[in-house]
Amino acid sequence: MHGKSRKAVLTIAGSDPSGGAGIQADLKTFTVLGVYAGAAITCLTVQNTRGVLYYKPLAADLIKDQIMTVLEDIEVSHIKIGMVGSPEIAYALSEILAEFQGEIVYDPVLVASAGNALHQEDACHEIINQLLDKITVLTPNRTELENISNQACPDPTAALAAAASLFKRADRLQAVVVTGGHLEPQSSTVTDHLLYRSAPDGTIQIKSATRPRLATNNLHGTGCTFASAFTAYHYLSNNYEIAFEQTSRFMGDLIKISAQLSIGHGIGPLGHHLLALSSERHDRKA
Ligand code: PLP
Repeated sequence: MHGKSRKAVLTIAGSDPSGGAGIQADLKTFTVLGVYAGAAITCLTVQNTRGVLYYKPLAADLIKDQIMTVLEDIEVSHIKIGMVGSPEIAYALSEILAEFQGEIVYDPVLVASAGNALHQEDACHEIINQLLDKITVLTPNRTELENISNQACPDPTAALAAAASLFKRADRLQAVVVTGGHLEPQSSTVTDHLLYRSAPDGTIQIKSATRPRLATNNLHGTGCTFASAFTAYHYLSNNYEIAFEQTSRFMGDLIKISAQLSIGHGIGPLGHHLLALSSERHDRKA
C-alpha cells in the first residue's frame, strides 16, 4: 500500500524480551500499520509480564553509532523515542536530534506498567531537559506529564494547563498528546487530548477523542504502542489532528481485540498480531 515511499521511521527505545512493550511493541505497531521502521536499542531490560527485574543501559557511543549508521543510509522522516535510561544516553541523543530535521515523537517513559523505574534514580529531569527542546511531539500519560511539568494533574483541566505550559519551554514542540488512561480512572470512558500549535500564529488548539474504557488486564505496552501509532499515522497523513484521531481509534480497537489474549501471569500484553490477521478490517478503519 505504501510501497513507493523511500522514507522510513526509526524507533529508539529499550528492549522488552517478553514482547509487550519497548522496541518490540514499536515494531509490531509500525508493521501492523504498514510503515517500515528501523530500531536502535538504548537499554536491555530483563522482564516478563510480572515486572522488570533489572535493565542495562548500552554505552552512549554504541547507541550513537547505531543511529548514525542508519541515518547515513536510510532516509528517515520520523524518529520515535521511548525508554532513554540514563542522562549520558539523553545527551548523546540530544546531539543527534539537534541536527535532525524531521518529526521527533517522544514517549517520556519513566516507569514500567508494573511500577518499576526505567531510569536511574533522580535522572528523570536531566533526561527530559536534554530532549524537550529538540522534539516536535510529546506523548505523556498523567504521571509523566506531572513529572515533566512539575504540576499536579488531578483532572483533565489541570492536565491541559500543564500540557499547554510545556510549549513555552520547548521551541520545536508542535504537539502534546496526553493519553487518557490514567486521567479519569473512575470514568467508563477514556479521553485522550491533543494540544497543537496552529498556523499561522501558533496559538494552541485542543482536540479530544473519547473511547470506551474496557475491563482488561492486557495493557502492558499501551504507552509505547500509542506513541508508535501516532508516529505511523503522522507519517501517513502529515497531519497532527488526523494522526491523533486515528491513533485514539486504533488504541480502542487494539485494546478490545487484545482482551481475549492470555499471555504470561502478570500484566498481559496487547495483541498487535491479532490485527495483522484481520488486515482487511483494519485498512478500512485507518
Ligand atoms: N520501554 C520499555 C523497554 C519497557 O520495558 C516499558 C515497560 O515495561 C516501557 C517502555 C513502557 O511501557 P508502557 O507502554 O506499558 O508504558
